[in-house]
Amino acid sequence: MVEYGSPLYIYSHGQIVSNWQKFDQAFGGHPHLICYGVKANSNLGVLSVLANLGSGFDIVSIGELERVIAAGGKPERCVFSGVSKTKTEIHRALELGILCFNVESAAELDSVESVAKLMSTKAPISIRVNPDVDANTHPYIATGLKENKFGVSIDTALALYKKAEHSQHLDVFGLDYHIGSQITEVSPFIEALEKALELISKLKAEGIKISHIDIGGGVGIAYNAEKTINIEQYIRSVLDKVGDLEVILEPGRAIVGDAGIFVTQVEYLKQSGVKSFAIIDGAMNDLLRPSLYGSYHQAIAVEDNSKGIKDTWDLVGPICETGDFLAKDRELTLTQGDYIAFMSAGAYGFVLSSNYNTRPRVAEVMVSGSHHALVRKRETVSSLFENEFIFNDEIN
Ligand SMILES: *Cc1c(COP(=O)(O)O)cnc(C)c1O
Repeated sequence: MVEYGSPLYIYSHGQIVSNWQKFDQAFGGHPHLICYGVKANSNLGVLSVLANLGSGFDIVSIGELERVIAAGGKPERCVFSGVSKTKTEIHRALELGILCFNVESAAELDSVESVAKLMSTKAPISIRVNPDVDANTHPYIATGLKENKFGVSIDTALALYKKAEHSQHLDVFGLDYHIGSQITEVSPFIEALEKALELISKLKAEGIKISHIDIGGGVGIAYNAEKTINIEQYIRSVLDKVGDLEVILEPGRAIVGDAGIFVTQVEYLKQSGVKSFAIIDGAMNDLLRPSLYGSYHQAIAVEDNSKGIKDTWDLVGPICETGDFLAKDRELTLTQGDYIAFMSAGAYGFVLSSNYNTRPRVAEVMVSGSHHALVRKRETVSSLFENEFIFNDEIN
């Protein structure tokens, strides 16, 4: 901590590896590809660990694809998701040779086809269907209901596959869906799978061959010892249904979530009689999940501190917003200068951080046994406005 400063994200190499291997091993000899959901944590250090394991990647922008390649990942193991791929992005992805476009609308299918035609090539595609299942998660991260913006209905998908099958510039590969994030029960996944498999057999009857099914990400983790999905059991029930179809899986949170912590330092303690605040140097701009989704992260004092003040604290940051809190009503014994670790902050932590209040984004460190190394240096204040210009209002 002293070496890297505060606040700080710290990732465990060993935990990332074992989380990935758990998914990989659950498939046994069945053809599969784990495509890590890059948006959960796109740090080059994290991506390089996964690339070394032979992981695939699920990307949602060309920027993420460039990161994956910079980290040593293979474009031919990347699937490209997202509701709005621009023609420039499609062009670059085709140039780099990705595994598959997960197409999300009729208009996007047209774009992919026209870019492929321009490049005199064939674009590998999968259609993202929206299976209309309730994943029972936070509304901001539910994606598989028919009122969500993602994918196309099963009926529309059938028409799009027929069109794609007849195109000289599209190669039909797969079918995909992703029903949401932080899902803690298997049943919505199985419901979605059954609907998707029904469509695949309809397609087969039409002479359209699907060679992989991409079952998305969304596997939830335990933020506060809650019950969540048993991965082996989930994959077993998938394998029971898919026959010999290759399976692609896109876990993000479940790979990196519990492999990261966010460490902050107590700046001031402020007790009003009504409420006790521990004002910490980390804020909503560093870890947005509590403010955005009302999410819970365990907060643990890094060192046992018997000299401190025992109270029920709200852990709040220095940002000028009442919504700037990382945790509420936590019983902790604290003094000024103590370090507090927010647990399971490896997913949707740093990636959602911003420079609000002109706060430099924090450093990120990877730890492996006794070895530790910076994987992103802390931003400097001057770098935050280096792309801005003084406006000269004396020119008419
Ligand atoms: C966000 C996302 C993922 C990863 O979701 P997790 O909940 O982090 O596993 C996978 N696939 C797609 C299409 C996504 O948008």
